Amino acid sequence: MRLSCLLLILTAAASRAQTPGLEKHIEVRPGTLPLILTVPHGGSLKPDNMLARRYGVTGMDSNTIPLAEMLIEELQTRHGGKPHAIISRLHRSKLDPNRELKEAAQGDATAEAAWHRFHDSAQNACDAVMKKHGFGLLLDIHGHRHLDQRVELGYLIKGEQLKAGDAELNADTALIATTSIRDLDKRSPQNFAELVRGPQSLGGLLEFRGFRCLPSPTKAHPGVMAGYFSGAYDVSAHGSRDRGTVSAIQVECPWNNVRDTPEHQRRFARALADSLGVYFEVHFGRKLK
Ligand SMILES: [Zn+2]
Repeated sequence: MRLSCLLLILTAAASRAQTPGLEKHIEVRPGTLPLILTVPHGGSLKPDNMLARRYGVTGMDSNTIPLAEMLIEELQTRHGGKPHAIISRLHRSKLDPNRELKEAAQGDATAEAAWHRFHDSAQNACDAVMKKHGFGLLLDIHGHRHLDQRVELGYLIKGEQLKAGDAELNADTALIATTSIRDLDKRSPQNFAELVRGPQSLGGLLEFRGFRCLPSPTKAHPGVMAGYFSGAYDVSAHGSRDRGTVSAIQVECPWNNVRDTPEHQRRFARALADSLGVYFEVHFGRKLK
């Protein structure tokens, strides 16, 4: 790399580090477990010095930050360690970390610095997990308001593609290679269809604990005209589709019975922490702790 180029990068990095409020805008909590949580849309901060985003989705995912905080506590209680966590405290009208930089920040320098801190921190957490544990899992925590109030799990498989039968899905190696769990599929003793919608898929494990999911053993695909979020920038950038051994799942939480009250948030956090313990043993072949 040419020296001038290196200097430019260092100067940009230094100016990002000096952006006022950056550490408050993007909270980074180091962890010990082979698990990373990213929470891009739960923030409510609207600093005056940041421009409002002019296009794209700007509504926040209410209560996803307290939900993630409870999940951190329940993981600690059950598995004796903390996940890494990267939380945007900025309102989505100021920054959308779950989009590529241009749409995410729409030219605002403070938002761009926050976007870089979010994704640099997420990648650093993935690298630390790979170094310490060899592999891991990233959960990108969201909230949705679709009519069918299920937990939607996104693996970068479109709703239309989920309509394939199990045998067809298992044979589609090209599709499997473009999912955010590409590496986990190689590790799991179960076939791909079982991994995404079998009894011990994340959807299956959560349903067993009382939370309806998609995909899952009871709902293989979204059906006709139904909303379903299959995963976006975060799981594309940090999952195992393009590189590495950290796989990623977008976890879209419904409002009813999951995000609506602190009691429901706690019950879901417990169910998810329990499910992850089984999930690691079954598919990664190791305990989460
Ligand atoms: Zn979201």
